[in-house]
Formats: sequence, structure tokens, C-alpha cells
Amino acid sequence: MALRKIILPEKDIPKKWYNIAPDLPRPLDPPLNPETKEPIGPDALAPIFPMGLIEQEVSTERWIDIPEEVLDVLMLWRPSPLCRALNLEKALETPAKIYYKYEGVSPPGSHKPNTAVAQAYYNKKEGVKRIATETGAGQWGSALSFACNLFDIECMVYMVKVSFEQKPYRKSMIETWGGKVVPSPTNLTNAGRAVLKEHPDSTGSLGIAISEAIEDAVGREDTKYALGSVLNHVVTHQSIIGEECLKQFALIGDYPDIVVGCHGGGSNFAGLSFPFAREKMVDGKNIKLLAIEPESCATLTTGDYEYDHGDIAGYTPLLMMYTLGRDFVPPPIHAGGLRYHGAAPLVSLLVKEGVIEVDSCNQLEVFQTAVMFARAEGLIPAPESAHAILGAVREALKCKETGESKSILIGLSGHGHFDMGAYDAYLSGEMG
Ligand SMILES: *Cc1c(COP(=O)(O)O)cnc(C)c1O
Repeated sequence: MALRKIILPEKDIPKKWYNIAPDLPRPLDPPLNPETKEPIGPDALAPIFPMGLIEQEVSTERWIDIPEEVLDVLMLWRPSPLCRALNLEKALETPAKIYYKYEGVSPPGSHKPNTAVAQAYYNKKEGVKRIATETGAGQWGSALSFACNLFDIECMVYMVKVSFEQKPYRKSMIETWGGKVVPSPTNLTNAGRAVLKEHPDSTGSLGIAISEAIEDAVGREDTKYALGSVLNHVVTHQSIIGEECLKQFALIGDYPDIVVGCHGGGSNFAGLSFPFAREKMVDGKNIKLLAIEPESCATLTTGDYEYDHGDIAGYTPLLMMYTLGRDFVPPPIHAGGLRYHGAAPLVSLLVKEGVIEVDSCNQLEVFQTAVMFARAEGLIPAPESAHAILGAVREALKCKETGESKSILIGLSGHGHFDMGAYDAYLSGEMG
């Protein structure tokens, strides 16, 4: 029987996060104060983040110890499996070897608790009682609610309205773990009221929801803010995905030629690919790193590389990144987690420098691929993750033409069990 699942023993779980900052081809441009346009220091972030996370945000240390208390929680589902997609290979008649790293085994069903747990821990350590956040498709909100519950912190989630309506069970999940969730834009904040005044029927966006959550956190002494993607510390926490992959590939004596992930704000893609980017940049490994995004919100493929806000109201510092403009409201596609106007500054820099390649695809081909994958491998992927699968399928079909047997690694960032409405739309032929 062929080897399908490469399981890393628990004792071999990575004990350190990898911070790519010291290995970049050039330093990151600093975040700027929106008013003065001067670089901001760590102090400027203190009202919204605990110091432990701010230190990681600006750290230039390559390796950061994962606290025991965080590892203890991560061990509930980590190390996650690396699987060989033998049936998919057969279905495509490709000589390529296709692997996927499956993050859907976490309790909330995606990679997001990798950072949610770490963020809840550092907040708890500094006495924070309540955390406010935004969520797109609901994965981040449920991940943070899950993590806050374990560390006994209150969790307040502003959920993009279109997803709130499309994915009612994400709300139930957030509430089951004790969190509170409201559809954004709300009447609870100035940012929300301003949007509703102009667009009473607004379906919301991540940028709007971020504005609301930050306003909430800044306005209350007991509350901090948490972001599920984009920022350096989030990307660093996700590095455990790629570090595990390196160990798993070493176990079977293979190594990927291509690493492909979906890209919303950049955290799962970075978490999977940065350990490989290190080996590419530092050790000269020949490896293609490929980020895939939806055509309707193609930040890296069509956006500008410039300073922009992370949110619509302009509360966040200016970040140097690829952006479609902070007031870009993406169409309500089903891959809600990929509807973000900006991108992680770390990913953006590596795209700009040519270390990472990018491509995009449309929703219909994403669901064709998702269903093909589900029928081959059994597992129903999140629509976000199906973008990565599509990227891998394209590469595998190229191998079929050339006869090359490349190894392709897919970042399968989550399962699609809460996205069955979207699958219904596809299966009934209603998806344009
Ligand atoms: C949130 C999410 C994404 C997109 O966010 P990134 O920060 O780009 O990783 C992708 N896949 C899943 C399953 C998600 O929950």
C-alpha cells in the first residue's frame, strides 16, 4: 500500500516560530503614522496590542520560542498531517507527486487557531479581559472565540454581514465557545454608522469590520484588538505549518519543487511557504512559491505596491503592501476569507522582490476543482483552500505535458463544512 499520510510524532513538533525578517532581501519599510507620515514606534501600538505581541511584530530574531502553554493547546490537533493526494494524481493522469498539508483538523477547522491561541495567551499574560476582532467568512472569529474560551477572555466579533447571513453556523460556533458576534457594519461604532448612513444595504467588508473592532478596543480600557492575518506576528505564528512540513518531507526523503497556497491577507500562505522561502533565499534551494487569489479581489496580481491603511476608516497605521485601495469593497464571493483589499507586508515584499510568484482564478473554476478534489480525496475543502488546489492542479497538468514528476505541496488551509451553501450554489448550476 502506498504511503498517504506523513504523520509527525508529537515529540517532534517545532518548538520555535520562524520569523523571516532577518532573512529578507531588504528590510521592511516601517509602518507610518497616518497623520504625520512618520514611522511609528512600538508604543503607538500599545493601546490595541499586548507588549508580547508588539515585540514579535518588530522583532528581527530569526527564532522565537513557543511558550509551553501555547504548545499545550496546539497539541490538541498538531502536528497536522501531510497527505499524498494519490487519487487526485490518478484523476489528473499526472506524473507529478501532489501533497497537501491539512489544517482543517483544528477544532475551528482552519489554520487560524495557530495564531489565535498565541494571541489569547499573550493577552491573558498581560491581564487583558476582553478582545475585539473582525471576521470575514467566520473562521477567524470562531478561532479567536475558541482560543479566548481556553484562556478565559471575553471575545467580541464583528462579522462581515454577507458572511453572517451566508454562514449562520459560524455564528453558532462562536457562541458555543462563549464569544459574542454581530453583523458588520453595526450601529455600535462611528465607523459602522458612517458606512450605514451612505450605504444602508452595505454587505460589509473586512476593512469595515476591522475599523469597528479597533474602535471598540480603543474605546475600552479592558479590551485589546486581535487581527487574524496580515501582521508580522500573525505570519510568524503560522510558520509552524511550514516548519512541520520540512520535518515531514525529511521523514519520507522528498522535497517540494512547488509550494502553493491561497492568499487572502497572507497568513496561511506565509506560514506554509516562509520556511521554504528561507531555504530558497539562504540555502539556494530551487523552489517555486506560488500564491493564488480570486480574480475578483486580486490584490497581489493587480494591486499597487504602496502605503495604505489596513481598514476603511483609516485607523490603522499605513503599511507598505500590495493593495486595491482601502475603500475597495470586493464582490460577495463565497471564499469570504480571501476578500481583503491589502496583503501582508512580508508577503508583499517577497512578491515585489520576485521570491514569490502570484496568480489568480475565477470562482467557477475554483468550485469545479473543489468538487473534483472532494470526489478524489474525500475531503471537502474550504472555498479559500480550493484556490490553492487549483494552483496545484494547473502545475500538475503542466507536468503531464512535459513528463516531469515534480513534487507539489498544497496548503489546505481548512475544511468546507460551513460552506455547503456555496457548494449547493455550484452544484445546482446557479454559480456564474
Ligand atoms: C482566513 C482563511 C484564509 C485566508 O486568510 P490568509 O490570512 O490569507 O491565510 C484562507 N483559508 C482559510 C480556510 C481561512 O480560514
